[in-house]
Amino acid sequence: MTGTTLDDYTDRYAQRARGMNASEIRALFAVASRPEVVSLAGGSPYVSALPLDAVGDMLGELVARHGASTLQYCIGQGDLALREVICEVMSLEGIDASVGVSPDDVVVSVGAQQALDLVARVFLDPGDVVLAEGPTYVGALGVFQAAQADVVHVPMDDEGLIPEALQEALREVSDSGRRAKFLYTVPTYHNPGGVTLPGPRREWILEICRRAGLLVLEDNPYGLLGFDADPLPALRSMVRDGVIYLGTFSKTFSSGVRMGWVLAPHAVREKLVIASEAQILCPSMLSQSAVTTYFQTMPWQEQLKTFRTLYAERRDAALAALHDFMPAGTAWTHPAGGFYVWVTLPEGLDSKAMLPRAIHNRVAYVPGTGFYGDGGGRQHLRLSYCFPPPERIRDGVRRLATVIGEELELRTAFGASGPFEAAEQSVPVIDGPRSAADTPPQGLA
Ligand code: PMP
Repeated sequence: MTGTTLDDYTDRYAQRARGMNASEIRALFAVASRPEVVSLAGGSPYVSALPLDAVGDMLGELVARHGASTLQYCIGQGDLALREVICEVMSLEGIDASVGVSPDDVVVSVGAQQALDLVARVFLDPGDVVLAEGPTYVGALGVFQAAQADVVHVPMDDEGLIPEALQEALREVSDSGRRAKFLYTVPTYHNPGGVTLPGPRREWILEICRRAGLLVLEDNPYGLLGFDADPLPALRSMVRDGVIYLGTFSKTFSSGVRMGWVLAPHAVREKLVIASEAQILCPSMLSQSAVTTYFQTMPWQEQLKTFRTLYAERRDAALAALHDFMPAGTAWTHPAGGFYVWVTLPEGLDSKAMLPRAIHNRVAYVPGTGFYGDGGGRQHLRLSYCFPPPERIRDGVRRLATVIGEELELRTAFGASGPFEAAEQSVPVIDGPRSAADTPPQGLA
């Protein structure tokens, strides 16, 4: 007999693998990749806006002329030329020599995602507490859960993490006899919240963390993708100590090159390099050379403006459609940059239970539950406006509004114990051709 759905290995897995179960949401996203579904789920950057011919020529040259080094291993910390480029990019957000930063403090990683995993490996023991915004980035939750850490969420409002709530969470953790290892935060153009921490709150939060001796893990993939203003100062630019900073080229250049980094105090940096060598030996030299050459030879600041304009148009399309179509009682954030809008459904609706119906109506989103480690988020969902063109976004939001309207009608007709449970079970099957280029992988980014 070949293949069975039963798992013969259950009694052999490590403890940390117990929570590694494919969710029913993953199954739905397989359906959501169909071209007839408007996907507002995945956070894939719109890389087609790059000058693809020029980038292609550049990549060809990197192999044809420099293959002896670009097709080779390199050092575990990452190539020095790229670490210099990284320092130049970080200086746009005030992270520079004035706060004690040099290429020596940077470790190149396979996207910010590997950097998150490295930090978790170096800092977290099973049962440790990590404070994180509620909601928080789904990929960070996955890392912290794999490290068997306990994520304690700190609420946000329209201006990001609430300082008083952070103080309260610190008190509660310490009253329970435990100590939080770090605060994981996405202060700028939050994923999934779409909100941004203003300057004074940044100072306040840093002060709270300094007093509590709490390390800050600042994750900043979207900082250079603001629509209305110059980049905000990163938390790391405001202090010399106490912040580990994660960056990535996924949104400013290409997510496919899988290049990110971590900036850490010297002693931590050393451990991160050792942890990374154990995982991957060294980052891809071809990808590192591609990023270095792109930033050294091509007009990347102009390209950033192109990305900003494009995403701002898509943000506008999403907000206009939400305003025009959403039923009363629905609320949403107003992102000033980045990729995401966080939607709050009318009282009593459940975004996870509603997802099959939404996909049946040819629109996909990520239910809010994906962004909480404690089962919260049912009344919320995340919409990504980064990938579909504005007309598709408008269509998608219109379809979603129809689904929400119908859910409200059902609730009125049947009350709170209506046919909502049934909706959760039925995964619709939609036939049709698939097109990978039109619909990239959904949901995890
Ligand atoms: N952090 C946040 C907040 C993200 O949104 C993402 C990806 N969407 C990542 C980290 C990981 O990005 P990458 O590995 O592509 O750099």
